[in-house]
Amino acid sequence: MRDRFRLDYVDPGEVIRTTGAFYEYLNCDREPLPRWSFGRVTLLGDAAHPMYPVGSNGASQAILDALAEHLRSHGSVEVALSAYDRERRPSTSEIVLSNRRGGPERVIDLVEARAPDGFGDIYDVASYEERAQVVRGYARLAGFAPDDGRASKVEHREP
Ligand SMILES: Cc1cc2nc3c(=O)[nH]c(=O)nc-3n(C[C@H](O)[C@H](O)[C@H](O)COP(=O)(O)OP(=O)(O)OC[C@H]3O[C@@H](n4cnc5c(N)ncnc54)[C@H](O)[C@@H]3O)c2cc1C
Repeated sequence: MRDRFRLDYVDPGEVIRTTGAFYEYLNCDREPLPRWSFGRVTLLGDAAHPMYPVGSNGASQAILDALAEHLRSHGSVEVALSAYDRERRPSTSEIVLSNRRGGPERVIDLVEARAPDGFGDIYDVASYEERAQVVRGYARLAGFAPDDGRASKVEHREP
């Protein structure tokens, strides 16, 4: 391990050196499905769209699935589940595919690729706007960034 990673409150190298055993777990997802709903039966959550664990999104999307309004607004269960399928499947499929590319954490890869030996000022590596575009673009995709101006309240400075 490179010892250049330093934090004020803990020595990451020491934590790694003194850890007796490491366990590796598979990172896996599934190809987006062409259909979730079959008559009165449908899928939601991980059963419908298992995704790589980036962007804190697995449970969040499962909750959005469950909150879908369709059962309340359609008379027939079959029609409701078909509408739910049409609305939720395209966006969650895009999230599954985006997570394969790192989701919002892609911003870390971007900085690492441009400054493999570290940097003094993040603004020399990527502008605020460029970094925000990656993160906010993902947030919009995931449905976390309503266009109500909240995202623009994040404090930032010009280089
Ligand atoms: C380590 C880790 C960290 C995570 N961190 C985050 C995070 O920060 N943010 C986030 O949004 N998501 C996170 N996730 C993902 C999130 O946990 C899942 O996306 C979410 O739990 C999916 O919910 P679900 O209800 O679809 O499936 P599950 O939570 O898997 O629930 C399925 C349930 O069905 C039960 N079951 C299975 N088979 C049967 C059967 N035959 N009969 C009866 N019951 C059955 C299971 O026991 C389970 O209780 C994380 C996941 C892991 C593993």
